[in-house]
Amino acid sequence: MNQTFDIIIIGSGAGGGTMAWALAGSGARVLLIERGDFVPQEAENWDPEAVWKYLRYQTPERWLDDKGREFRPYTHYNVGGNTKFWGSVLYRLRREDFQAIQHVDGISPEWPIDYDTLAPYYERAEQLYQVRGELGNDPTEPPRGPYPYPAVPHSGGMIEIVSRLRELGLHPSALPLGLLRPGDPDGCILCNTCNSFACRIHAKSEAEVCAVRPALRSPNVTLWTNVCAKRLVANGAGTRVTGVEVERNGVTSIVEAPIVIVSCGAVNSAALLLRSATTGHPNGLANSSGLVGRRYMAHLATMMQGFHPLKKNSTVFQKTVAINDFYLRGPSSPYPLGQVQSQGRTHGVMAQTVVPWIPLWAYDAWVDRGVDWLAMSEDLPDDNNRVTIARDGRIQLLYRPNNLRAHHELVKETKRILRQLGFWLVVAHSHGSRNTTHQCGTVVFGSDPRHSVLDSFCRAHDVENLFVVDASFFPSSAAVNPGLTISAQALRVAEHIISNDLKHL
Ligand SMILES: Cc1cc2nc3c(=O)[nH]c(=O)nc-3n(C[C@H](O)[C@H](O)[C@H](O)COP(=O)(O)OP(=O)(O)OC[C@H]3O[C@@H](n4cnc5c(N)ncnc54)[C@H](O)[C@@H]3O)c2cc1C
Ligand code: SF4
Repeated sequence: MNQTFDIIIIGSGAGGGTMAWALAGSGARVLLIERGDFVPQEAENWDPEAVWKYLRYQTPERWLDDKGREFRPYTHYNVGGNTKFWGSVLYRLRREDFQAIQHVDGISPEWPIDYDTLAPYYERAEQLYQVRGELGNDPTEPPRGPYPYPAVPHSGGMIEIVSRLRELGLHPSALPLGLLRPGDPDGCILCNTCNSFACRIHAKSEAEVCAVRPALRSPNVTLWTNVCAKRLVANGAGTRVTGVEVERNGVTSIVEAPIVIVSCGAVNSAALLLRSATTGHPNGLANSSGLVGRRYMAHLATMMQGFHPLKKNSTVFQKTVAINDFYLRGPSSPYPLGQVQSQGRTHGVMAQTVVPWIPLWAYDAWVDRGVDWLAMSEDLPDDNNRVTIARDGRIQLLYRPNNLRAHHELVKETKRILRQLGFWLVVAHSHGSRNTTHQCGTVVFGSDPRHSVLDSFCRAHDVENLFVVDASFFPSSAAVNPGLTISAQALRVAEHIISNDLKHL
């Protein structure tokens, strides 16, 4: 397997998959390394029991928490990464998210680029991932042109909820969604097993379908599956990566390229850099700032369900509504609270994972009468929230959620609204400090090498031929879903590599 390419990309998710697509036409010989395999198209894709009870697609790997206790992270190692299982809510960050914002518990820092810099790449990412949305109703929408496709219409039940929300003085808007050809014979069927499930018919806009498979049509793109990058090999000074040590079926080898792009997801990218320590750079590669692994963020997320015992919820595809009224300030506070989204339908098996002793029939009856929501707030960068490598080589995640006052206020306000909508009871659940779905911030980008690991094109300040293009680069987590921003920045970095680095090869 000892081979040489022009560019190696490690990880095929939102960052790496998009990057492979963007570099496919460049003429460079691109190797995409993915530790997992393709997710098979099979009945279990849409089976709540297979997905939620038997965790069929989740990595069996165990990480350690801050107290050294093992847990199984909610993350997926396969072609397309976590995008295979995402809800495909594809938001641009708000213009304000790129600026420093005072939150109730601290400051969300400025990004080294502004919204206008990323806007053209957002547009391209929305084309690539076929985003559907509607202009005009979201009070926080940054300036932009029309969406590539019209919004997915609300179901009957959600139309009623949207009009009640408007009567309450709120501004509900359509969630921007990446769904392929809904209504067409081979398109999305708007089913009730989308978020957290793989799409059995490949009708979800995710990295495997929209980016990796199209990239592989180019003869210069090669994909290695079931190959794990163990460490990056660098010159003595740690200023240039010379190769990637990879392992397949227990066999280790080195693959080389003059440009290496790490896109393993925020936790694994930091872990890879930390594991690449040598005596020349004992704190890990690209880590003169000491920030690799630090400033882990993951959003504060609470799943909520409004329940009405006499009203069956007939909606199948429920995930179409957003409430952004509290994104920049709360109803009674000047600080940002976050976003509320309607969620995909909960299944009894999913709810049972929270309190397993309640019988499934009771859960099924409950979820039949519930409408699901997600309240999501920004958590703030804190150097003490970090990814480290434990003595036995495993990943340890030290994360203490912050900005909780803002989140509690958002949850309280959402409960109040749901009760005003007529729900008799509202229940809430959060994964707390083991939340990894929106992981970001561990290899932060910025203009000052003392306070960031990457420059604004995601090139390591310390290592001239190393890029990290996944959720790691986020200096703040904002409070909308991260995927479109990761993909947009990947397109921007790819363009930069093509015009600056490839011509020197
Ligand atoms: C259930 C769920 C729902 C979500 N819903 C949404 C949503 O609606 N909208 C949204 O924007 N975001 C959503 N997210 C978050 C979104 O999926 C992630 O933010 C996004 O996928 C992160 O992209 P990434 O490139 O950083 O990492 P990933 O997409 O996780 O990709 C990392 C890839 O690297 C591979 N890898 C890791 N380590 C190595 C190694 N050492 N060697 C080789 N390969 C390696 C992994 O196998 C993986 O394929 C959701 C996530 C989950 C889990
Ligand atoms: S058919 Fe549509 S709604 Fe169902 S999983 Fe696929 S993309 Fe999601």
